[in-house]
Amino acid sequence: MNIILLGPPGAGKGTQAKWLEEKYSIVQISTGDMLRAEVAAGTPVGLEAKAIMAAGGLVSDDILIRMLSSRLGKADAAKGFILDGFPRTVPQAEALDRMLAEKGLKLDAVIELKVDDAALTDRIAGRFTCAKCGMGYHDTFKPTKKDGVCDACGSAEFVRRADDRRETVAARLEAYHAQTAPIIPHYAKTGVLREVDGMAEIDEVARQIEAVLAKV
Ligand code: ADP
Ligand code: ADP
Ligand code: ZN
Repeated sequence: MNIILLGPPGAGKGTQAKWLEEKYSIVQISTGDMLRAEVAAGTPVGLEAKAIMAAGGLVSDDILIRMLSSRLGKADAAKGFILDGFPRTVPQAEALDRMLAEKGLKLDAVIELKVDDAALTDRIAGRFTCAKCGMGYHDTFKPTKKDGVCDACGSAEFVRRADDRRETVAARLEAYHAQTAPIIPHYAKTGVLREVDGMAEIDEVARQIEAVLAKV
């Protein structure tokens, strides 16, 4: 199963990717996570990406396409993947088409999570993540079961992303509408696009995605 989760920042892509990984034994490929790892490691890519990410802009297509191409070449991706955060521009979508064609792979579904801008600001402002296992949470919508303890791994250490501030959200949403939304027609044309109501509760969104994938 090869899936793209498409949607604005805070739509719930990472949240849904987690159970999809388990259910279908496929890997989540999050370009945001990959870039944050480069920034943390201080690599040349990280140094170039850091300020752009902090400002809520998009890192260059060139870097992202190279990064994804090498990631898709790793053995675990051959079993299937969930792309989370890629493609984000038309050139990235076109490059992905070429990469998949070269490998003889196809996309089973492009799932568009539709969420209003107003809801996204609250989702992003309340987002936090377990520092140890990466499980995602929300202050209001998905708190840990036990205060200050990760449900998944028991760790008590959590992180908040540097770009998850209300001030940066507007720029990220603008980048989504201007640069990412134009790839939606690209996938509508090839018949793989499926819309899901991302405004629903987390479990309900999961049920909708499950129903969509049962038919591909
Ligand atoms: P979110 O899921 O909240 O949109 P991500 O973790 O996917 O955030 O991405 C964080 C940041 O990393 C983006 O705001 C952007 O600066 C950069 N980024 C991630 N993926 C891409 C991509 N495919 N193209 C360009 N920039 C990207
Ligand atoms: P994305 O990867 O698309 O940027 P996330 O999966 O990180 O989005 O979700 C953003 C925040 O919103 C997280 O704190 C998450 O717990 C929360 N969240 C995700 N899906 C929903 C939902 N359907 N309803 C309410 N909150 C949600
Ligand atoms: Zn954890």
